[in-house]
Amino acid sequence: MKKSILLIITALFLQTTFGQSTYILCGKLIDTKSGKITSKKTILVQGNKITKVFDGYIMPKSKTAKTIDLRDKVVMPGLIDMHVHIEHEYDKKTRIKKYILNEADIAYNSVKFAELTLQNGFTTVRDLGGSGVNISLRNAINAGKIPGPRVFTAGKSLATTGGHADPTNGSSRKLIGNPGPKEGVVNSVEDAKKAVRQRYKNGADCIKITATGGVLSVAKSGDNPQFTLEEIKAICETAKDYGMHVAAHAHGDEGMQRAIIGGVKTIEHGTYMSNKTMELMKKHNAYLVPTITAGKEVAEKAQVKGFYPDIVVPKALAVGPQIQGTFARAYKKGVGIAFGTDAGVFKHGYNGKEFGYMVEAGMPAIETIQSATITNAMLLKMENEIGQIQKGFFADIIAVNEDPTKNISTMENVVFVMKNGIVYKKKE
Ligand SMILES: [Zn+2]
Repeated sequence: MKKSILLIITALFLQTTFGQSTYILCGKLIDTKSGKITSKKTILVQGNKITKVFDGYIMPKSKTAKTIDLRDKVVMPGLIDMHVHIEHEYDKKTRIKKYILNEADIAYNSVKFAELTLQNGFTTVRDLGGSGVNISLRNAINAGKIPGPRVFTAGKSLATTGGHADPTNGSSRKLIGNPGPKEGVVNSVEDAKKAVRQRYKNGADCIKITATGGVLSVAKSGDNPQFTLEEIKAICETAKDYGMHVAAHAHGDEGMQRAIIGGVKTIEHGTYMSNKTMELMKKHNAYLVPTITAGKEVAEKAQVKGFYPDIVVPKALAVGPQIQGTFARAYKKGVGIAFGTDAGVFKHGYNGKEFGYMVEAGMPAIETIQSATITNAMLLKMENEIGQIQKGFFADIIAVNEDPTKNISTMENVVFVMKNGIVYKKKE
């Protein structure tokens, strides 16, 4: 057999075994594990996995292999956002949408939001609450039917009656009925267990609770505690039985403390977190998901007359401006930080703005990227699969034009996106 034919057969064998081979030439490559930025590397992607990272630029020998030239870019692993609402985008009509949108409408909208998120470099997200369409969305993305990030979803958030995620807040009493654990509303330890088991049955990956009042719900308090410690403990223990972790939305300090003691893994927002609570976070190895971008957004939109219902405005004005300062204090105190934005409260696709706000508050740029990669991968129990560019990891790879340690705003302009070995964006 001729040598050339043998080479073609070998190449075809490799391609069918590992899938398409792609050589990605990287001008700069961020090693998220060491926090170092290296130069002139080549990533070999076969199928949906990274199979080797070479020093220097390697050109493929096989004719069937592809080359992607990112020699003038800064390459890093796909980003992970721990707090999005992929089904929704808040606007003036949000209150009325609850009554006019069908599930199919929500589904079509979420397809667009998922694609926008992926196009902006976020190859994995944790979705912290919607109607349940988010579970079908995750399945459709995983099945390759539509483009989008890997989704870990809580399905519907859990609340107490009148609490932040009670789906009937602010509605006419004729319309509200009496939602219970099935709808995510709990008022006892038994309800709490049932609601978690129901989420598991529905196909959720994790549990989200609203441990305190919140800004955008049609309710008076933005920070009161809304679960008893016993209810939170029951939720966390049941979730653990089913292999799920618990995320707690919390602005007020008392509710936050109950959540941490009760066993939640992440505190979302953390607005009025006291020094004592920060120590508690460290002791219990809980992480803060800052959502500074959402804080800025609600403070700004509260100035626009009629954008939010009247009852929301004072809460938005009080909570919004606090979030970045709390993050700054928590970071300084050594609280673990898990990158997350609350996209959906602001327009999807702008998740990258969070990096700049974190840097502004005192976190070094490289650590913000580590937070959005290795930290979040660990929290999702995928630390050996995503968050790094290493042999054996999923080929989730993105690129930006500039070195983010010199100009963090480059994170808002992602020019290359590969997820699971498939290229979704390549801007020259
Ligand atoms: Zn949220």
